[in-house]
Amino acid sequence: MSTIFARSSAPGKAGVSVFRISGHLSLNVMKSLTQESNYRPRHMYFKTLLHPESQEKIDEALICYFAAPDSFTGEDIVEIHCHGSIAIEKLLTSAVLSIEGVRYAEAGEFARRAFLNNKFDLTRAEAMVDIIDAETVMQHKQAMRQMSGELESLYVRWRKQLLKIMSLVEAYIDFPEEDIPETVISGSQQTITGLVDSINVHLNDNRRGERLRHGLTMALLGQPNVGKSSVMNLLSQREISIVSSIAGTTRDTLESHLDIGGYPIIMLDTAGIAESTDDIIEQEGIKRAKKAATNADIKLVVLDSSSLDANSLQAIIPLIDKNSLVICNKVDLLSDEIESTKQYLANELQCHDIIMLSAKYNNGIETLLAAIENIAADKVGEQSSPALTRERHRIALNKAVEILSALDFNHDLELVAEDIRISAHHLQSLVGRIDVDEVLGEIFSSFCIGK
Ligand code: GDP
Repeated sequence: MSTIFARSSAPGKAGVSVFRISGHLSLNVMKSLTQESNYRPRHMYFKTLLHPESQEKIDEALICYFAAPDSFTGEDIVEIHCHGSIAIEKLLTSAVLSIEGVRYAEAGEFARRAFLNNKFDLTRAEAMVDIIDAETVMQHKQAMRQMSGELESLYVRWRKQLLKIMSLVEAYIDFPEEDIPETVISGSQQTITGLVDSINVHLNDNRRGERLRHGLTMALLGQPNVGKSSVMNLLSQREISIVSSIAGTTRDTLESHLDIGGYPIIMLDTAGIAESTDDIIEQEGIKRAKKAATNADIKLVVLDSSSLDANSLQAIIPLIDKNSLVICNKVDLLSDEIESTKQYLANELQCHDIIMLSAKYNNGIETLLAAIENIAADKVGEQSSPALTRERHRIALNKAVEILSALDFNHDLELVAEDIRISAHHLQSLVGRIDVDEVLGEIFSSFCIGK
C-alpha cells in the first residue's frame, strides 16, 4: 500500500500547521527531509526540514513518529508541526512527494486506513466527522457519545443476539439427535419480538439525532410589517435581512444559523402571509412562507401589538401549535397595557406562552431565547439512550426490522435462520465488520457439538 501525505489542519496562514504521513515509507521520508535517522516513537524532535533534491531549507519544525500499529491509522505515521504558511506548504508538499512511493492522500483516506486496520468501527468513524463538523455544544455532546462507542455497542449487541438465535435455530435443524428442546424455538421467537420492539423504539425517535446534527429549522411567520425581519436581525445579531417599513419587503427565504443554548437553529426569514396579492413575486413569497411554516421544527408567529384586530388574530390562529411561539412585537408602542394585552392575546388565541417583545428596543429577548431553547431541548435534547444519527443507520435498521417482523417460526425454520442471517448482516453493515467465522464460533461456543 502506498504511503500517503496530507495537511491535517485547516488551510491558510496559522501559527502552526500539522501535516501527516502514513505508510511504510513514513520514516524514510523523515530521514530524507532531516538527514537524521534516529527517531524514537512518540517523541517530539525539533528539526530543520530540507528539500531532499535542492537542499533548500523549508522550515524548522516539530516532528513526531508513531510506529505501527500504535498510531491513528495503524500504520507508521509521521506528524510534522511546522509554521502555517502557504509557501511552506508548497515546499513541503513538493519535498515529500519527490520521494518515490509517496502520494497525496485522497479525502478521508487516513480514516479509511484506520477503519481497515480495525482502529474503530463505522459509527465511530462517522462520529469523528461529526465532532469536526460540530458547531454547537449539543452537537459536540452527541458526537462525543457516539465516539465513545455507544451506538457501536448497541448495534453489536443486537447483532450478537441475532447470531445467537440463528445458531440455536440452525442447531435445532441440523442436530436433531442432540435433543434440543422445542422451547429453544419459542424462546428465540420471544427474543426476536423483544429485539424488534427495541429497534423500533430506537427508530421512532422523531429523528432527534439527525435533526441535532443538521440543525432545527425555525420559521418566522406573520403578516407583512409586523417586525419579522427585525426579530430575525435581533436574534442573529446581524443585518442579514432587509428591514423596511414597506409591507412585503421580505420576498425570499433567508437563512441564519444560530446557536441557542447549545442547540443549532437554522432560522428562516419568510415573506409575509397576506393571503391576497396580485404581485407574482409576493405570491411566491407566500407559497414559500407556508411551506417553511409547515416544515419548520419551531415556528415564531409574530404579531404587531399596534394592530391586534380580529383579522390579524384570525390569520395567525392556523399557525399556532405545539411547535410555535407567539411573539407580540412592538410592545414599546403600548403604554402601560402590556400585561393586559398579554392576557387578551392568551384568551383570544388560546395560547399561554405569549412573548411580549420589542425588537426595536431589544426588550424581551431573554424570554424569547429561553422559550426557543425549551422547544429545542424538547425536540433534540439529550436522552439516556444513544441517538440514531444518520439516514444510513435508519435504512439498515429498517431493513433488519422488516425482515425480523415477518419471520414465521411455525413454517420453514431453515428460511427463518436464513432471514435472521440477512437481518444480522444489515446490522453488521452499520458497524462495518463482516466476519462469517463469527457465526461458526457462536454455534460451537453455545453447544459442545462433536465433543
Ligand atoms: P416584516 O415585514 O414583518 O419583516 O417587518 P420589518 O422587520 O421589516 O419591520 C417593519 C417595520 O416595523 C419597520 O419600520 C421596523 O423598524 C418596525 N419595527 C420592527 N420591530 C419594531 C418594534 O419592536 N417596535 C417598533 N416601534 N417598531 C418596530
